[in-house]
Amino acid sequence: MADRVYNFNPGPATLPLDVLRQAQKELLDYHSTGMSVMEISHRSPEFDEISRSAATLIREILGLTDQFHVLFLGGGASTQFALIPLNFLASGKTAAYVDTGTWSTKAIKEARGVGNVQVAFSSQAEGYRMVPTAGQIDCPSDAAYLHLTSNNTIVGTQFHQFPDLQGVPLVCDMSSDIASRRLDYSRFSLIYAGAQKNLGPAGVTVVIIRDDLLARCAENLPSMFNYQTHAKKNSMYNTPPAFPIYMVRLVLDWIKQQGGLEAVEKNNIAKKDCLYAMMDGAPDFFRGTVEPDSRSWMNVTMRLPSEELEQKLITQAKAAGFVGLKGHRSVGGVRVSMYNAMPLEGVEKLVAFMEAFRKAN
Ligand SMILES: *Cc1c(COP(=O)(O)O)cnc(C)c1O
Repeated sequence: MADRVYNFNPGPATLPLDVLRQAQKELLDYHSTGMSVMEISHRSPEFDEISRSAATLIREILGLTDQFHVLFLGGGASTQFALIPLNFLASGKTAAYVDTGTWSTKAIKEARGVGNVQVAFSSQAEGYRMVPTAGQIDCPSDAAYLHLTSNNTIVGTQFHQFPDLQGVPLVCDMSSDIASRRLDYSRFSLIYAGAQKNLGPAGVTVVIIRDDLLARCAENLPSMFNYQTHAKKNSMYNTPPAFPIYMVRLVLDWIKQQGGLEAVEKNNIAKKDCLYAMMDGAPDFFRGTVEPDSRSWMNVTMRLPSEELEQKLITQAKAAGFVGLKGHRSVGGVRVSMYNAMPLEGVEKLVAFMEAFRKAN
């Protein structure tokens, strides 16, 4: 594919080429309906199959039982920042939040608008260079839930161990690392992820809720804000984002064809090892911005010796077919986002390019 670039955008992000081809093949006539998925009824047997199989595949890939409900909602991960406290932060209760960067901060802001919040850990004073170890999290034993952001897309940190808090439900924003590695996903009571990093296009958010937490949703919420509404109707209470859900289904099929999370994780480890080895080999030129223990496998952040060199690298990389390397405007520098769909070959070629750039500069 001569016209395709290596897309290191942080989200929306690269999708597997096989998935795009499949969508292209089925675009005008989905399964002999004579219609596109964008045109069929969300109540049709064809769409029902897409939605159900997507939910089943998520449970299968993440290793979850039927105790977990899989919802496909609109509004992005950002809407969940508000829906979580609206559903689960009852008056008089406290929700604990771990503050590890921009997305956590936004989640905290929304929760504060609903009820009491205790910040159980914050690395703000350290410029969000690290995530906490389990022992550093100060969570009240009667908290309504503890909220974490497993991968901090902007600063480039990631949890590699999770706290085990008996009795306190763990709620996790996994927007930028869901299904990227093997984990005991069943220890989370609620997982949510905007699809546009690891699962598909923008427009749908996957919310996974365990039975016992679902039973605790607040009453008197508007129907669309209550998770039970969507769970009872299998995400068909209103018209769901049908085409994004279809794309997520194709991405899940692709993950399964790769060999599931074991294979995906192996590939992601090879990619991050390749990039961090380059940085560790030239720390004065490619200066990592986070603590080594907290390094993200998905978003690798670094500074070069000057902003001028950073700009030059980003410009020359683009001309060479590597796009999306500019750091987030709030932190600057260079960020390499390499979600599941980025092939190892793309990272290896980028590393070769960056090494040549270093030698030339
Ligand atoms: C991208 C991102 C979000 C925001 O997702 P939207 O779907 O745009 O609302 C939230 N949390 C994390 C960790 C993200 O990476």
